[in-house]
Amino acid sequence: MLTQFRFDLHATDGAARLGIVHTAHGPMDTPAFMPVGTAGTVKAMLPDSVAATGAQTILGNTYHLMLRPGAERIGRLGGLHEFMQWQGPILTDSGGFQVMSLAKLRKMTEEGVAFQSHIDGSKHLLTPERSMQIQHLLDADITMAFDECTPFPATPEQAAQSMRLSMRWAKRSKDAFVERPGYGLFGIVQGGIHHDLRQESAEALQGIGFDGYAVGGLAVGEGQELMFSTLDFTTPLLPTDRPRYLMGVGKPSDIVGAVLRGIDMFDCVMPTRSGRTAQGFTRRGTVNLRNARHQDDPRPLDEHCACPACRQYSRAYLHHLIRSEEILGPMLLTWHNIQFYQDVMKGLRQAIGEGRVQDFARDFLATEALGDIEPI
Ligand SMILES: [Zn+2]
Repeated sequence: MLTQFRFDLHATDGAARLGIVHTAHGPMDTPAFMPVGTAGTVKAMLPDSVAATGAQTILGNTYHLMLRPGAERIGRLGGLHEFMQWQGPILTDSGGFQVMSLAKLRKMTEEGVAFQSHIDGSKHLLTPERSMQIQHLLDADITMAFDECTPFPATPEQAAQSMRLSMRWAKRSKDAFVERPGYGLFGIVQGGIHHDLRQESAEALQGIGFDGYAVGGLAVGEGQELMFSTLDFTTPLLPTDRPRYLMGVGKPSDIVGAVLRGIDMFDCVMPTRSGRTAQGFTRRGTVNLRNARHQDDPRPLDEHCACPACRQYSRAYLHHLIRSEEILGPMLLTWHNIQFYQDVMKGLRQAIGEGRVQDFARDFLATEALGDIEPI
């Protein structure tokens, strides 16, 4: 029997939620962190290694994949799961955010965004309809509505205009989305840091009806305090029987704080990108493995971590790999960082199930604040 796309809410602890999103390519336990696989690969990781960390869903980027190797080509080759050999669920973004941040000579109209590729200058038009078509060709389990990510800072007038355009595009996205069992379409709440605009956006999206709801337009430079206060009034506006996704977030403390405020899904390039720039996430905060203080240190990066980098290698060796610009350095650090993020999510899920998520969050933040201890 074909799986229907659905969200089962198993427990709540305050505003925090424990659940499962069911998709055509399997389940995702929430709260979940989804590693980013921009161009059909989670950089420096094999799909089996990504799965070994406990990650169940990865992200693909519409903008990158439509330009290279092309959505039609991936479609002909069996879709993104088959192409990149990832068996689990895939969420794709709509391309709206990246076309505004990466493309050259872009022009936005009511119809969509006309732009030139940053790779070869070729001309493209991305509309809600084309974004739905591309995400269908990619075979995304979770498709995101095409929207405009409102820049920060924006005046209330700019934020309102941008949000209302995104709501018209959300309706066109819904109309163009081809429903299949196990596949879902998410709407994206915009409205910047303005309560009335977030409310208007959340109501407009629920009027259209989506399988899940994302909070967009955050983590764009507003800072953690404003992000949390925006979530405080935005998540209560969303239906309890659909998953909630905070796009592009974030640092471990951002994620812990957002889970306390009722968010179920996250993605961010931070663990993978940091893994390529010598930064390791640990229970005691971030560690720069390039630093000379690690060169004689026989300890693992994080003694509580079971990833290959921590189980088998010393900080001294990781430091050596990075200083020597050996490719194994970014590979091991990326693996560790993804493992660390997955361990945080697992800890949050267990704590919510046991009704002690506030204690978990307090202990997590207190340990992180201790900082990494220098070897004697
Ligand atoms: Zn590790």
